[in-house]
Amino acid sequence: MNNLSKNYINGEWVSWSGPTLDVHEAGTGDVIAKVPASGRDEMEQAIAAADAAFADWSESSLDQRIKVLEQLHAGLKERAGEIAETVCREVGMPIKLATGIQAGLPATITKTYLKMLPDFPFSEQCGNSEVQYAPVGVVGCITPWNYPLHQVILKIVPAIAAGCTVVLKPAEIAPQSAYILAEILDGTDLPKGVFNLVSGEGQTVGDTLIKHPAVRMVSFTGSTRTGGLIAHAAADDFKRIALEMGGKSASVILPDANLAAAVKGTVNNCLLNSGQTCTALTRMLVPADLHDEACELAAAAVARMTPGNPLEETTRLGPLASAQQRDKVIDYIKLGIEEGHTLVAGGPEAPEGCDKGYFVKATVFGNVKPGSRLEQEEIFGPVLCVIPYQDEADAIRIANGTQYGLSGAVWSADADRAKKVAGKLRTGQVFVNGGDFNPLAPFGGFGHSGIGREFGKWGLEEFLEVRSLQL
Ligand code: NAD
Repeated sequence: MNNLSKNYINGEWVSWSGPTLDVHEAGTGDVIAKVPASGRDEMEQAIAAADAAFADWSESSLDQRIKVLEQLHAGLKERAGEIAETVCREVGMPIKLATGIQAGLPATITKTYLKMLPDFPFSEQCGNSEVQYAPVGVVGCITPWNYPLHQVILKIVPAIAAGCTVVLKPAEIAPQSAYILAEILDGTDLPKGVFNLVSGEGQTVGDTLIKHPAVRMVSFTGSTRTGGLIAHAAADDFKRIALEMGGKSASVILPDANLAAAVKGTVNNCLLNSGQTCTALTRMLVPADLHDEACELAAAAVARMTPGNPLEETTRLGPLASAQQRDKVIDYIKLGIEEGHTLVAGGPEAPEGCDKGYFVKATVFGNVKPGSRLEQEEIFGPVLCVIPYQDEADAIRIANGTQYGLSGAVWSADADRAKKVAGKLRTGQVFVNGGDFNPLAPFGGFGHSGIGREFGKWGLEEFLEVRSLQL
């Protein structure tokens, strides 16, 4: 990466000599890169470039769009090793997982759109009307740091496929994979101005992006707090918004489930990316009479997850992405103790042998009380709450008892029963008995977890306006 000190605007790498943002290595705390803390002017230039490019790109042929996305796919495959190591260092996800997820998923998602596009109905007949699906316009994309390239790809690939032009503001903590992406796109046939990258802080360049009248849609992934600011800003000039936000997802283990398999599945999911996953199953609901056994199984599972250097192939649990995130998670662990929940494993002290970097012990609380702050608030770290319930209705009530509704899981020996309970969860997705992740299925939240859907045809439709011609 040669361009980390620049922004990518109107097909050019534009130098920046102003203040910069430090990018830290999660496992050591060292500064490994510096990127621009750009100003509002740079963002306005990028928006103007995207606005100017829209007329032509919105009229581009499907073949032209497919060609560019094929070139992007090839570039993502070619630079996969570099992407995996970059995100592993920035975010702390162990390299083996980062290779499959942080580098692998962006290529997989791009491929799903390449397969879908040739047959996607950009127009259809409805009686005497031709219904056309037209690109929404200039799209502002704002992304977080936990799956930094994946979240960008989920926005820019369908946006470009729809005929939109894009300005991306990546997360400050993990911006480097967005630069790799910009370098790849720079080498494709994408016309200048269709994709622009401006690095900087949310309160400045992000704020300009969400309020600019030329931006017709904001596609955002991040915290519910920032999503709220975006929704308010969008209301002022009726921008379209797609918001992917936080979660506090429940894993409902029914009394007839294979307890060991269900606990293992829940713990693995909860600790993925050290708990820095919006869909993490952070609340494990178990029948009250199985609570102690479930806690023992969970404690044994986290004991096998000792934190280590994320660059080593054998590491399964890495550090958190930043000092701020580590401190926030430690504060939540202290809060859990203060609130009187049972500390079953882990705790607020730094793990042994991890005096550098942003490490936190994988932690399990038992007898967690519904309605407590530990049970209600998104922690975004390796902290599992085990919550006893009385009966199925109680479990569903507790599962649905937060402001969020992003993901969930149900476990039962009876597949029909599991599906029935899954249908009562007020969340955008539910994993039934450990069902596989599906990159073609819609992804998004109910309630304070989001508005809109990503992935598959639903992700593409977000970037399309509907026009009907009466003939
Ligand atoms: P964040 O909201 O602090 O930041 C996300 C992005 O918003 C960053 O690029 C940031 O610079 C920008 N931003 C911040 N303030 C802004 C403002 N005033 N105006 C415009 N932009 C602004 O979130 P984070 O801490 O980076 O990410 C963690 C959060 O993201 C968690 O809550 C997590 O659940 C959520 N998340 C959700 C999904 C999902 O798909 N639902 C996926 C990953 C992460």
